[in-house]
Amino acid sequence: MSARPNQPHRSRWLLLTLLIAAAGPAAAGADHDHGDHDHHHGHRQHDAHVHGVAALNIAVDGDLLLVELDTPAANIVGFEHPPRNEAERTAIAEARGRLADGAALFMTNAGAECVQMSHQVRLDLGSPGDHAHTDGEIHADAHGEWAFTCAKPAALSQLDVRLFEVFPGKDKLRVQLITPSGQRGAELTPDSHRLDL
Ligand SMILES: [Zn+2]
Repeated sequence: MSARPNQPHRSRWLLLTLLIAAAGPAAAGADHDHGDHDHHHGHRQHDAHVHGVAALNIAVDGDLLLVELDTPAANIVGFEHPPRNEAERTAIAEARGRLADGAALFMTNAGAECVQMSHQVRLDLGSPGDHAHTDGEIHADAHGEWAFTCAKPAALSQLDVRLFEVFPGKDKLRVQLITPSGQRGAELTPDSHRLDL
């Protein structure tokens, strides 16, 4: 039901980050493309800021399911500048609310009995005046982490990623998946958004 304090899970997130990093260049999005909105901003290659594309890391570890999302903010709220009016402030607040409900974004098969334990969402577009860029280009990223615990982890077989439906405007999710059976990459699209775990 309600989220419990998530302090004990920070070490899990560190573990996930280390696992992804250890997987090397093949896992780091070596196939990343150069769309016309490709902005590197000093990011490592696997989180290059490309509108329409987002990165998802998923780890299954015992009864824990961890999901981590990195995305241009444009994919979530449709813009990346500091909010200029009430409608834009509302859009950001609503997006934060939708991001908080991990169970609606990442649906596991019912038999696994997974529930969201904790989440952390960062969607900060700043305040007007923060971004005095001379080139007129303003970009911002969003980040989310969700932890689920599954009463029947052995039954966990599928994850339906609903990000495309909840936040239209994405074309592609690049996924890194770590399960007890190994690590692999996957690509999800609006027409193909279910992962076999
Ligand atoms: Zn951008």
